[in-house]
Amino acid sequence: MQRKRVAVIGAGPSGLAQLRAFEAAAEKGTEIPEIVCFEKQADWGGLWNYTWRTGLDEHGEPCHGSMYRYLWSNAPKECLEFADYTFDEHFGRSIGSYPPRAVLWDYIKGRVEKADVRKWVRFNSPVRMVTYADSTKKFTVTVHDHVADKTYSEEFDFVVVAIGHYSVPYMPHFDGIEQFNGRVLHAHDFRDAVEFAGKDILVIGGADSAEDVTSQCYKYGAKSITISYRSRPFGHHWPDSIQEVPLLQTIRNKTCSFKDGTIKEVDAIIMCTGYIHHYPFLPDELRLTSANILWPPGLYKGVVWQRNPRLFYLGAQNQYFTFNMFDAQAWFVRDVILGRKAIPFSEVEMEADGGFWRTQQELLTTDEDAIRFQGDYVKALMAETDYPSFDVDTVCEAWYEWRQHKRDDIMTFRDHVYKSAMTGKMSTQHHTRWLEALDDSLESYLRETE
Ligand code: FAD
Repeated sequence: MQRKRVAVIGAGPSGLAQLRAFEAAAEKGTEIPEIVCFEKQADWGGLWNYTWRTGLDEHGEPCHGSMYRYLWSNAPKECLEFADYTFDEHFGRSIGSYPPRAVLWDYIKGRVEKADVRKWVRFNSPVRMVTYADSTKKFTVTVHDHVADKTYSEEFDFVVVAIGHYSVPYMPHFDGIEQFNGRVLHAHDFRDAVEFAGKDILVIGGADSAEDVTSQCYKYGAKSITISYRSRPFGHHWPDSIQEVPLLQTIRNKTCSFKDGTIKEVDAIIMCTGYIHHYPFLPDELRLTSANILWPPGLYKGVVWQRNPRLFYLGAQNQYFTFNMFDAQAWFVRDVILGRKAIPFSEVEMEADGGFWRTQQELLTTDEDAIRFQGDYVKALMAETDYPSFDVDTVCEAWYEWRQHKRDDIMTFRDHVYKSAMTGKMSTQHHTRWLEALDDSLESYLRETE
């Protein structure tokens, strides 16, 4: 009998979790399908694979990268640690709780290099189209190989979509923006806060990006930062040069007017207005449409496409939990594909199964509620597979502490340390306080002392 074939689209943390899940089964002697992972970029790691480019990449594809220089983990690393590959194992010692991007990228790569799954990845290979034929029960995946500059199609029995959803910007229009005499950019194209040193900046948004871009610009010397929010302010004890105002109403040349009557002249506008789910290669019947929420519609167990359960999505949720949640999802998807895990026969039954989560989602009001919700989801998935079990409640505790540390002081929360649920050990205090640590390189971070 011909071996089944699985296409994994994207080699970011989600796609790599899928590769590792299959490899872990193979390690235990299970016969696994043929896995082909298509990755648009020249290397793996998804968003953690930093690019200096903005706009289009070297092949004319939309740039995937939304990360910037000097980006440090925005939550404790203890919250995203892999259960089968700890930070201590990777670095051979304990490190701080909020590593910069390069350190996390190194960690992500360490696990998949150890698992030797690079051979399954075709790089520089954006997927252009996926179709499904009822008659053959197979998907046709059409890909552009940028190295050979050829487009080709292959058939697969299963498709796992793991392309992330923090890459295609949502950009609202504001009255007068066409005439603004300064730079307008989305956080997706923000690369280096040093560009804004000495400048008056307007940051629009009320979520993670707005918070971190503001902190970055402050750290690297912006003269003033005005944060404009739509629904509610962060309410942090910001330094004096940072001010929160309600929504921007009009822009006249460089002068911005806000809903409360505030008027401010700014040099640049950075829109931290969020991202959209964008799957241009999928036909309507296979394509997820969702806001950035914890329980996207149409996905059984948050991963199985109910309208065609041979298609899966990883990491489609709004994310508190990341790497270890992607793992729990990938292990579950693997077991469905291997036939170890039965799923309900009909779309109606699958939809009904999500009823509990949909109802719970409606009741969430605080960050703590949302963290608990996602923690429960991770627990539920882990209970169904052999992903190495870990104490999700300990991870939730780190999340709650993180939330409190941010409330206490947004400029120092990254100086705290947390306990690993995987090793039971507290992490080590980093040698330099975040606000003074201007060099974000791996070498600088891993230096034992300053
Ligand atoms: P991605 O990392 O986006 O990877 C998707 C991959 O799919 C990419 O490699 C891309 O090239 C590829 N791809 C896209 N389209 C195609 C195609 N058509 N064909 C083939 N390949 C394709 N999470 C944390 O845990 N901690 C943090 O501190 C943190 N900071 C963040 C900061 C920013 C600015 C952003 C935007 C996100 C941050 N995140 C953070 C969340 C982030 O979403 C996850 O950590 C993680 O990168 C998601 O992994 P993913 O594999 O689902 O998606």
